[in-house]
Amino acid sequence: MSSRSYNTIIIGSGPAGLTASIYAARANLKPLCIEGFSAGGLVPGGQLMFTTDVENFPGFPEKVRGSDLMQKMRDQAEHQGTEFVTADVTKVDLSQRPFKVWTDEPDPYLAQTVIIATGARANYLGLDSEDKLKNRGVSACAVCDGALYRGQDVAVVGGGDTAMEEAAYLAGLVSSVTLIHRRDEFRASKAMQARVLANPKIKVLFSHVVVEVLDVAKGEVTGVRVKNLKTGEVKVVPVKAMFAAIGHTPNTDLFRGQVELHDNGYIKTKPGTTQTNIAGVFAAGDVQDWTYRQAVTAAGTGCMAALEAERFLAAHGMH
Ligand code: NDP
Repeated sequence: MSSRSYNTIIIGSGPAGLTASIYAARANLKPLCIEGFSAGGLVPGGQLMFTTDVENFPGFPEKVRGSDLMQKMRDQAEHQGTEFVTADVTKVDLSQRPFKVWTDEPDPYLAQTVIIATGARANYLGLDSEDKLKNRGVSACAVCDGALYRGQDVAVVGGGDTAMEEAAYLAGLVSSVTLIHRRDEFRASKAMQARVLANPKIKVLFSHVVVEVLDVAKGEVTGVRVKNLKTGEVKVVPVKAMFAAIGHTPNTDLFRGQVELHDNGYIKTKPGTTQTNIAGVFAAGDVQDWTYRQAVTAAGTGCMAALEAERFLAAHGMH
């Protein structure tokens, strides 16, 4: 094999990609993990890099920081023999084997099997004013940006577990959090809701939507204009930052037109497997799962993908 040819290339380095890397390396597949580089989509370590304490990953009774957990997984994958490239994948050709995977270099990497583990990224509301104020007070990551607003008033938008987590985290730093949700009940788990509702620093605006982030002319967030969906009343909530916590979009643009996707953009896998519609291409983690979306389920499917890649290679006499 040429120096750019691999049995298995793993794209993405969240819990799915790194677990696939660990298993593939231990099976002596000498895998390459292209771990991502940009903060836009494919982030080295994936979404857990943006979280604080992880209390539900088995094996850590004292909880573990998301970034520490990912560093441990990466160390383990490297120790087992995974080669890493810190780059974004720019293009793939999955029309025939060996599959081709490009980064920012002219020559592609070649692979007999590919494991797609590119995960998902945070959604924003889609308002023009929100877009203009991104990184100027508009954020989708409290852990990344919350400390900038210490002692100030901030808003969080959303009603799921992420919104609860962001609001609770921010409440520990800022003066007040206004949690804005479009319905009159949260989607979040009861335990996370209870934590938020009991926090005196968090005020909830149910049945409200943000219609504008202020103030584009000033180039900084000074407030959010919200509308009460029940009464139609519009008012401004003065805040220094707005955190969007309204769900995720799978990172599948690279694969559109090549790998079969569900209507919602997530990769289709054969039930009970990580097999895509292309023999030798597997998908693991959040890129193919909008239901469970947990680090441990992502890791589980990463393991499955590596085992399936190994079997595929063996069945084709390549390993
Ligand atoms: P969810 O899809 O669960 O929630 C998204 C929230 O955003 C919903 O309340 C939704 O409102 C709202 N929303 C979506 N689009 C808009 C919009 N355009 N304008 C206003 N509001 C909008 O996403 P999460 O990221 O919260 O959670 C994803 C998964 O990850 C879940 O399974 C969750 O349990 C899990 N998770 C677990 C954590 C933990 O256990 N520590 C922490 C974080 C996430 P509506 O309810 O009306 O649809």
